[in-house]
This record gives sequence, C-alpha cells and structure tokens, in this order.
Amino acid sequence: MVRTKRTLAALVLTALAVLTAACGKEGSPPVKGPQPDELPVYRVAAQFQLPSSSTWSKAKRRGHLVVGAKEDQPYMGEKDPATGVYSGFDIEIAKMMSASLGFDPKTIEFKTIASANRETALQNGQIDYYVGTYTINDNRKKLVGFGGPYYLAGQGLLVRTDENDINGPKDLDGKRVCSAAGSTPYQRIQSDYPKAELVAYDTYSICVDNLLTYQVDAVTTDDTILSGYAAKVPDELKVVGKPFSAEPYGIGVPKSDNALRFALDDAIALREKNGDWQQAYDATLGLSGRKAAPAPPIDRYPAS
Ligand code: GLU
Repeated sequence: MVRTKRTLAALVLTALAVLTAACGKEGSPPVKGPQPDELPVYRVAAQFQLPSSSTWSKAKRRGHLVVGAKEDQPYMGEKDPATGVYSGFDIEIAKMMSASLGFDPKTIEFKTIASANRETALQNGQIDYYVGTYTINDNRKKLVGFGGPYYLAGQGLLVRTDENDINGPKDLDGKRVCSAAGSTPYQRIQSDYPKAELVAYDTYSICVDNLLTYQVDAVTTDDTILSGYAAKVPDELKVVGKPFSAEPYGIGVPKSDNALRFALDDAIALREKNGDWQQAYDATLGLSGRKAAPAPPIDRYPAS
C-alpha cells in the first residue's frame, strides 16, 4: 500500500518535472538537479582509526559503512530510480563523514529510512549513522546520539500556486495539512495549531502528491525540503511565509557510541573549515535557489 503510494508520488513528480522541462518558460529554464561531475571529491583519511567505537569497528570488519538517508527529498536526499544513485546535500554530508572515518565514500551502502523509523534503525544496528534532515532535540537524544549540527533549517509551508489564503501557520484552521509521521513539524502542528486538520504519511513526497491532486491544502516540514519540491515544479507549488521553528540537523548515531559522535563532530568542523561544506552546498541544495544559512556551532554535548 505504502509502496504503491510512494511510486505514484514519484511518478507524479517525475511527470511534472518532465512537463515543466518540456514547456519551460522563456528565460526560466527548469532547475537542474545535482550533476555528478560538479560534486566535490573528499580526501579519504586512509590511516584513520577509531577502535573505541563499536560502530566503526563493525564497519571496518564489514569493509564499508551503511548509512540511513531519505530518497524522496530533492536536493537533500534523493535516489535516482533508474540508477539507484543517491544525491543531495545530506548525501554529501554522509560522504564527507565517510571519508573522514577512513572509508571511501563510493563504498557507502545507503538505506532509505523514513522519519518515523530512524531511532529504531539506529537502535537495532541496521545503519551505522543517519543523515536525512534529522532535527536534534532532547526527546530524540534520549534514544540516539547526534553529531553536529551541520545545518539549520526551519519549518515552513508549501501550497499550490493557486492558493492565496494560506500565508502562515495561523491560516491553517480548518485546512487539511499534510506532514510525515514521527516528524517534528507534524508534532508542532498537532500541539500549537490544533484546529488544523492534520494528515500524516510516511514521506513528504506522498504529501506533495496529495497537494498536487487537491487532497490536502498544504504540506508542512522544513523549508529545505519544501524549497526542493517547489524548485522541481515552480509553476505548481510555492513556499509561503517565514520559517516558524528552528530545526538544527544532526547526524544520528547509536546512543552509546560517543566515540563515533565526537569523531563526526570533529569531521564536520574540519569540512566546514576546509571549504568542502560550502562546495557541497553549492552543488546540491544551493541549486534550488536557497542561500546557505550559516552552519550553527557544533553541539558536542558531554557523554551521558
Ligand atoms: N527535520 C524534521 C524532523 O526531523 C523534519 C524533516 C524530517 O522528517 O526528516 O522531524
């Protein structure tokens, strides 16, 4: 059931993208996605060792990292259905981290994990770390650890271009609003805007499909994700209003693996300093027209 819906959502978006490309307005060529030859290449720290991390040691024995990600968030984490290749800013962050941990990024095995399943995937050891628009907060810190943050997003609203009544979360009373189960934007609408008619699916692409077919009036999640969808079909979708939350993105790790968490903190700091972060941003999320928000300071909270 979910699979069918996801496929349908992908089809609608692909069809619309093709349509937009075909009838692209004069002077406004369709926005292209990340181009493989423009992506940075990250130097692999071949001598790196982290035996105090059980996750790292297990990956070393396996020979590669297994990384959780999203597959339907344009410019952030997107899987090409034809080639199976993942691309986007989160994917670049995952690759930088891999290189810093001594693993060639080309060998990463990506696994798509939905918002509601991230904590369980990390707790079961299904993945070594997770990079996918994952907000750091105290509730989640009880279950998993977070390296970073490596980016600061904010909750926003996506509507159809023919919608004029919704300009901010206060306009959602009585409107059908879609978000992903288990996400912070879903929880915020539920608690702060209880008069909105909230609808939840596994993924935002299903929400966008429902928006395009007039089943819902708005989609809410981070502005990063929403601007990606809007950039793909600018004639159909627009992001409205100002961001109304702070969503600092972290790299999810198993809660007990402080050694891995601190190594990722160091790696993020290094990649911000040496220009890799900016180059990765420009080659991915930057293509959606979004200016890079300054990277927030690394949290590096003490081991509990
Ligand atoms: N950053 C938010 C969260 O972690 C929304 C995006 C997502 O669901 O991945 O819940």
